[in-house]
Amino acid sequence: MITVGIDVGSISTKAALLDDEKFYYLLKPTGWSPRQAGLDCFTELLARGGYERQQVDFVVATGYGRITQPFASKVVTEITCHARGANHLVSDASLVIDIGGQDSKVIRVDGQGRVLDFVMNDKCAAGTGRFLQVMGAALGVEVSELSELARGRSPVTLNSMCAVFAESEVIGLLAAGREKGEIVAGLFQSISRRIASMAQRLAVPQKVVFTGGVALNEGMRERLQRELGAEVVAPVDCQYAGAIGAAILARDFLSRKN
Ligand code: ADP
Repeated sequence: MITVGIDVGSISTKAALLDDEKFYYLLKPTGWSPRQAGLDCFTELLARGGYERQQVDFVVATGYGRITQPFASKVVTEITCHARGANHLVSDASLVIDIGGQDSKVIRVDGQGRVLDFVMNDKCAAGTGRFLQVMGAALGVEVSELSELARGRSPVTLNSMCAVFAESEVIGLLAAGREKGEIVAGLFQSISRRIASMAQRLAVPQKVVFTGGVALNEGMRERLQRELGAEVVAPVDCQYAGAIGAAILARDFLSRKN
């Protein structure tokens, strides 16, 4: 049985192909057309693995561009897919924090990766990956460089929670001679505090699973760990959690149908 999960996110589109027990992944920038990004990601993943379209038994689409995918057999919400994907990546996951490009969510899951409860912020850019991208641009660095810059630095206190005001504040701090590393550490602290207060609404267990592209930042993981007072685990394939969950749910749907 071969299934595919496509997670069409605001920043990047991720595809996961599940062939028996083995996963294959591909990521592409979403760009201006979620429909095209999903199609390109799907087609290229199949081509790279040497698969024909007819070999794929079921496709689940998720993410903000999920309804735009004509080849999808079914559409499933991100919360459901992320929960299932996180459970696959860390089998004893009970609380999942997902920080993507334009939203952040905290999901309480059961032992099978089913959603028990969740809290979501999709109204405000602060506490999202986009916020870090905007701040990275103001500092003249890539998001992938932020962690290294902040390593071992004491965070400056940022007063602005709003992404627009925080950008001006960061520019002001640079002009006042503050080092980039301290500012990035301050940004990690400000996002982590925001996420921690969301997580505390669902009660924080000893171990928390961190997914989404922002979980690639080791500095964010460390800061979140400190603010939560819990172990925070970011699996290597953290950015693929939604696509992985979608591919597994596709397999589940198919099994139920047959
Ligand atoms: P979406 O599903 O909304 O497209 P993702 O889960 O793919 O979002 O996460 C995108 C975010 O991940 C970016 O906004 C950026 O902050 C962060 N990110 C992506 N790649 C890296 C990287 N190599 N290192 C650190 N952060 C990254």
